[in-house]
Amino acid sequence: MSKVIDLRSDTVTKPTQQMRQVMAAAEVGDDVYGEDPSVNRLEALAAEMLGKEASIFVPTGTQSNLLALLSHCERGDEYIVGQQGHTYKYEGGGAAVLGSIQPQPLDYEADGTLDLARVEAAIKPNDPHFARTRLLCLENTQAGKVLPLDYLKQARAFCDRTGLALHLDGARLFNAAVALEVPVSDISDQFDTVSVCLSKGLGAPVGSVLCGPQELIDKARRWRKVLGGGMRQAGVLAAAGIYALQNHVARLKEDHEKARLLAEGLTEVPQLNVVGAAACTNMVFVEVDPDRSAQMKAYLAKRDMLVGNAATMRLVTHLDVDPEDIERFVGEVNEFFERAA
Ligand SMILES: *Cc1c(COP(=O)(O)O)cnc(C)c1O
Repeated sequence: MSKVIDLRSDTVTKPTQQMRQVMAAAEVGDDVYGEDPSVNRLEALAAEMLGKEASIFVPTGTQSNLLALLSHCERGDEYIVGQQGHTYKYEGGGAAVLGSIQPQPLDYEADGTLDLARVEAAIKPNDPHFARTRLLCLENTQAGKVLPLDYLKQARAFCDRTGLALHLDGARLFNAAVALEVPVSDISDQFDTVSVCLSKGLGAPVGSVLCGPQELIDKARRWRKVLGGGMRQAGVLAAAGIYALQNHVARLKEDHEKARLLAEGLTEVPQLNVVGAAACTNMVFVEVDPDRSAQMKAYLAKRDMLVGNAATMRLVTHLDVDPEDIERFVGEVNEFFERAA
């Protein structure tokens, strides 16, 4: 059987042999008692890398963002977020469902930022008619796009002036830092809290970390238990996270390079439109004629190549695809359109 080339997401990566070895050898204890040395090491390492007082290891990015929202906001509070923001659109409405926290979504600008003048206009007056606007939530990378550092500084100053807290859904924070060639703390410094996925481009099988001030992380720890996220001998998973943070950050550059190769290859295919004409970190977005898209997907699947569903197809590079896989993939896409012609 030929190798499966899975470009649906960077969540599909499997732990490497070396990662599995450190997982197998991990020291463990009961983390609900705070006694898992590997979890404690991971939390200390993540906090140090992001320049925060504390961090907490959680099963998923969804839970990490939810803990941040529950810890910043009370019942009847509101957070401002992108219309396509993961915490708003792709997390089952958790903040509203479980926290009685109201979202105020706004459209993203083309570069993945939220216009701060529009954010300001959306802040509710202090009046019993309105929810209390408490928090601004940004995403970086946003659909693969890296938010400019200048913008992040403006967002920090804006939140200081307006009294909002500032949370970053940094599921792919390290992709942004590697793309900008800056230490990750240059980005995280601008935020009160930052959530990072270990299970995407970093290649761990499971887990995210929420980093922030001690007091807020203490609150999050309470909510994690309430949500059923208090894991016991979680050190086997945390060990993978430590390995990922120590060994898989710099190599994200290779994923970005592969995405660039992919974008270049697909730009040559007349029936496709590569959106934005360039790769964004590890993602490429491609418009396909809606009548062809399902057929193309099925054609590729027969050749063990997996792509997403939407009309604008998102292709994501990661640890488990090689430059040769990208070449083969582009070759098959060309073949599909030649046969269909
Ligand atoms: C994947 C992702 C999450 C959530 O991560 P899960 O571990 O899948 O729950 C949050 N935000 C963004 C931007 C993501 O891409």
